[in-house]
Amino acid sequence: MTVRKRFKTVEADDTPLVPVVDAPKVTPGITREFLLAGRAYFVAENNKGEQFSYKVHRREFNLSEGFYVRVACQSGGRGLLGAHGSRGLSYQYVGTLNADTGALKVVGRSNFIQGTPEFDVAKWALEMVFNERDIPEGYRINHIGKCGKCGRSLVDGLSSTTGLHTEEEDCP
Ligand SMILES: [Zn+2]
Repeated sequence: MTVRKRFKTVEADDTPLVPVVDAPKVTPGITREFLLAGRAYFVAENNKGEQFSYKVHRREFNLSEGFYVRVACQSGGRGLLGAHGSRGLSYQYVGTLNADTGALKVVGRSNFIQGTPEFDVAKWALEMVFNERDIPEGYRINHIGKCGKCGRSLVDGLSSTTGLHTEEEDCP
């Protein structure tokens, strides 16, 4: 096989993770409020069943707070197809989340930067949720049955819709 190097004209990168314009849409299963609750776990999945698992945790500093996005990875490897809490998983830094805009930013210790699927999928999911955009049918952005605030399991009912314990339920 001959491999030739060549330059080609590349149009502005509008080949998104979600290319189909007129496909039926569904609403993401989480909200901005959930993502900013302090201890949010969510999954983003495409229509091929490929899934990344993220957590968005709040850290407090002197007078400010920051939200850190991390992705579940198989030990030392890429972040993919892992379920939260499985053996051999660790969470690697992706970046910081801007709580006003939903923008994801690489930080010094990010293990994944722009152009990696781990980063790009997180960025896409965060933007969809923050902008209240619907996503193509077959894709999912959902919580994993744990409260975004306290991290404990949700019960059926209202809380399983919002991803947050309701007032009647324990949420320390
Ligand atoms: Zn809770």
